[in-house]
Amino acid sequence: MYQAIAYGASSAASRLAYTTIQRREPTAKDVQIEILYCGVCHSDLHQVRDEWNSVMPTVYPCVPGHEIVGRVAKVGSGVTRFKVGDLAGVGCLVDSDRTCPACQQGLEQFCPNSVLTYNAPDKHLGGVTYGGYSDSVVVDEHFVVRVPGNLNLAGAAPLLCAGITTYSPLRHWNVGKGQKVGVVGLGGLGHMGVKFAHALGAHVVVFTTSESKKEDALRLGADEVVISRNANEMQRHAFSFNFILDAVSAQHDINAYIHLLARDGNMTLVGAPEKPLALNSFGLIFGRKSVSGSPIGGLAETQEMLDFCGAHNITADVEVIPIQKINEAYERMTRSDVKYRFSIDMASLKVE
Ligand code: NAP
Ligand code: ZN
Repeated sequence: MYQAIAYGASSAASRLAYTTIQRREPTAKDVQIEILYCGVCHSDLHQVRDEWNSVMPTVYPCVPGHEIVGRVAKVGSGVTRFKVGDLAGVGCLVDSDRTCPACQQGLEQFCPNSVLTYNAPDKHLGGVTYGGYSDSVVVDEHFVVRVPGNLNLAGAAPLLCAGITTYSPLRHWNVGKGQKVGVVGLGGLGHMGVKFAHALGAHVVVFTTSESKKEDALRLGADEVVISRNANEMQRHAFSFNFILDAVSAQHDINAYIHLLARDGNMTLVGAPEKPLALNSFGLIFGRKSVSGSPIGGLAETQEMLDFCGAHNITADVEVIPIQKINEAYERMTRSDVKYRFSIDMASLKVE
């Protein structure tokens, strides 16, 4: 064991603050990573504030962070894919059983024994896993991905969650040329969804509650922008979408979007608001429409997504912050005031 430094919360009501945590020494299959950047996901905020209490109650202290990019500092004797000095990424998963049908298909996100990067039982040290708001992390190499060297690292970190969470459903639903695709909520996930849907060749329409994001949406790759509070603008798109990706973090009316789907259209929810959303079945019935969900992605697809980003030079649009600004960043995230992802420069984290 060794001591790592980190930022974490000691209760749902407390601000994140400097702390120290224990990490394991790398075992034979482990990679120890010096963390350079960690993206700030809205899930970090939901978890820190225990907003998902009914599904995933938070264990304190909670050290969040699952959009990790860094350099390999140490490798175990059995590690074959990484060497000291390599760039490496870690997303939302740090382990799974590797034997279940989901794992065998490379869909570790569906493994019943998968281990999340933070707030999950830590089978090595006991207690819970601690995430990437820290100077280092130790992860089995199977759960470490390669980060293309041409990408800006601060902007690459959010690919590990916001990137894969939007890429995976777009690929699953075969989004591409000739299709009309909506993206709801232009936050960290949403803006990656726009970039990917555009790169895949779809006609992309952004739905936002923020007038001020209109120009950006077009620059990010949208063909059209709809201010979702404007009923007339919404109605113009009725029954026309093949696919809609909903990346909203809070309570909102999903029936208004189901209304915009064409026959057999699908709306996939990746946003995970605190409270359940109301669903009007008639909206689905008349049009044989479907609503589904999607969690992150497996390791193989995460690597595919990163390679796609390397080839197309895609990264998140980030505001780089020192870790001391994390509480302010959370407040701004609750006001949808982030363009479009905070990325923590971990060089700012020092022993206190
Ligand atoms: P974010 O950066 O805070 O973006 C959320 C966006 O939702 C906001 O920018 C805003 O977009 C919109 N929004 C916020 N409040 C709203 C309201 N009351 N009504 C309508 N729209 C509202 O969050 P994020 O990091 O992208 O995460 C989005 C959600 O996905 C979170 O719930 C997160 O936990 C979840 N998530 C799920 C997965 C998964 O595996 N499925 C992975 C990561 C995150 P506009 O300003 O454009 O309206
Ligand atoms: Zn996330």
